[in-house]
Amino acid sequence: ELRQIAIYGKGGIGKSTTTQNLTAGLVERGNNVMVVGCDPKADSTRLLLGGLHQKTVLDTLRDQGEDEIELDAILKEGFMGTKCVESGGPEPGVGCAGRGIITSIGLLERLGAYTEDLDYVFYDVLGDVVCGGFAMPIREGKAKEIYIVASGEMMALYAANNISKGIARYARQGGVRLGGIICNSRNVDREAELVRAFAKELGTQMIHFVPRDNDVQRAEIRKKTVIQHFPESKQADEYRALAEKIEQNDMFVIPKPMTQERLEEILVEYGLMDDLKDDYKI
Ligand code: ADP
Ligand code: SF4
Ligand code: MG
Repeated sequence: ELRQIAIYGKGGIGKSTTTQNLTAGLVERGNNVMVVGCDPKADSTRLLLGGLHQKTVLDTLRDQGEDEIELDAILKEGFMGTKCVESGGPEPGVGCAGRGIITSIGLLERLGAYTEDLDYVFYDVLGDVVCGGFAMPIREGKAKEIYIVASGEMMALYAANNISKGIARYARQGGVRLGGIICNSRNVDREAELVRAFAKELGTQMIHFVPRDNDVQRAEIRKKTVIQHFPESKQADEYRALAEKIEQNDMFVIPKPMTQERLEEILVEYGLMDDLKDDYKI
């Protein structure tokens, strides 16, 4: 059965990189995957396509009008047949980016993009804030499963906790569940322990610890996933491990977001606040 998964997390944390490498890991395992970029930056499929998507859904809609659009114009095939779509953004200063995501998903549905043979659809969502707009993929019941990308850095965990508040809200009315925290390492001391403790407090799991590795940048310069460019590397195996864990995951929860005080307590417990005091002037 089709699993529709939304990926959230602080900006720059590694959502798009992780989503695409995870996708490559899943297609290697024989799955059919579609990635729908929901960030106005439109760079959610660059590594799978070997370059930026030529045309976003919202740009195409503006240029051609809904009646003229064919699926080929907005859906491109990337690495091993992955289906790649970029929602794009509204004209700067006009319209709601989140609303644009739903417009895009609606159009994809009408054009028949959600074919029977699909195993996974990923929504790579911009996510410092889960405003009403960017909560759209979960609010409208499109994605029922969510992973948050975070690291051991305070701002990443702060964002992850906020995102959990948004998820908890929609989980009560719809069927949305959190599947886990993907730790995308920033080489913070005791990072795995900290993120594991944070995840436990939320009632979820750290589903995988993805190391920080320069092979990610080396592959990125070539506009490729690590799995495609360095298939034999250690980092490629990390993404394969993540893919396998997501495939086998059966822990889906309504998160229990924590108070700011409790979050800070956990950070202190793992020695993070001491370092951050100077940087963030806490
Ligand atoms: P987001 O989509 O969350 O804004 P990106 O996926 O664009 O973030 O990642 C931001 C940058 O971080 C990318 O340029 C990428 O090279 C780098 N990056 C992400 N994950 C890793 C990693 N595990 N190791 C090294 N660099 C990484
Ligand atoms: Fe922007 Fe979010 Fe407001 Fe929509 S709901 S206009 S995306 S801030
Ligand atoms: Mg991104």
